[in-house]
Amino acid sequence: MALQILKISNCLIQYGRLWDGVTDALSGPGTLCIKDGLICDAAGFLPAKKHDLSQLTLLPALIDCHLHLCLPSCSTTELSKRVLSLLAAGVAAVRDAGSSSPSAFSLPPLRMVTTGQAIGRAGFYGAQLGIQAENAVDAALIIDNLASSGVNQIKLIASGIFSFNSYGEVGPPPFSVEELSIITNRALRYNLPVMAHASGDEAVRRCLQAGVHSIEHGYFMSKETLRRLADSGTCWVPTLSPVYAQLDGRPGNGQASLEVIKRSLEKQMQLVSEAAELGVTMGAGTDAGAPGVFHGPSLHREISLLAECGLPLPRAMRTATADAAAICGLTEDMGTVAPGRKPYLLAVKNNPLESLDALKNIEYLLLPS
Ligand SMILES: [Zn+2]
Repeated sequence: MALQILKISNCLIQYGRLWDGVTDALSGPGTLCIKDGLICDAAGFLPAKKHDLSQLTLLPALIDCHLHLCLPSCSTTELSKRVLSLLAAGVAAVRDAGSSSPSAFSLPPLRMVTTGQAIGRAGFYGAQLGIQAENAVDAALIIDNLASSGVNQIKLIASGIFSFNSYGEVGPPPFSVEELSIITNRALRYNLPVMAHASGDEAVRRCLQAGVHSIEHGYFMSKETLRRLADSGTCWVPTLSPVYAQLDGRPGNGQASLEVIKRSLEKQMQLVSEAAELGVTMGAGTDAGAPGVFHGPSLHREISLLAECGLPLPRAMRTATADAAAICGLTEDMGTVAPGRKPYLLAVKNNPLESLDALKNIEYLLLPS
């Protein structure tokens, strides 16, 4: 049966089992109350509408912490298709990590955390993801414009992209620590967290010194830098999927490139496993829109890859629920099942804390109406 979308505002939901998005075990059976579009304590509230999901497991709907809705193209038809495939995979919210499109857009019922145009530096990587500043002062002026256009976070391109031909190579970092500090401080003036595309040890280290909110990718950082990341409380979105997708015999990758890609993925998975031990808050971000990474199903792949790094399943699932909500600034609304949150929920047949295959059988996506 294909997934059904239910929009709810006042109802009772009878569930067989419940995962709250945080803890290590399921609870239930029980009843969840939705009052005026919010999850509430059930006492004394008797709405006419009841949903019988007593054979199913209820859990928070998923969040993709890093994708590009406008890649590889930004036509209205393509965007609608992507929204449908995200919803079909149980993804109710996404953080868009930048596009070259200057106009803001929303795609209801998908919840979007927007960054608008990513900010890079002229002459460096990233022109296709947004706008390139001449210098930090110019970047600060771009932030003024993005803030007035209503973005939720700032996407900063603080490094190059890693080479498939030469292991560990990412190009020179485009901004100095001083410049990065000017940029992050300008964003803070508007209460806008900075998500920084940063790979290579030097770029990640500079971003940490400048106080960014999240490190995106973070390929090839050293153990020492990972420790600094952990100590600073900065979040990390390790985006394993775009590298994994390159292993899939993509055209143009010769044997030598495949060796580099394989080694890079292994290195990143090792870092994830160490980050888990250090207690780093990690988010599942697919980088969907990158070659071979598709909007929606790739989030299941990303969670599986994180689990393969040694994250226990509840922890791996948290990267797309509670921890993802923290990274994306959505904690007040979603990511956990708790009174006061909005009912962004999934109902699945099996137990996702036992097998991630449960995500392949999503029966319902519940959304606030
Ligand atoms: Zn990206």
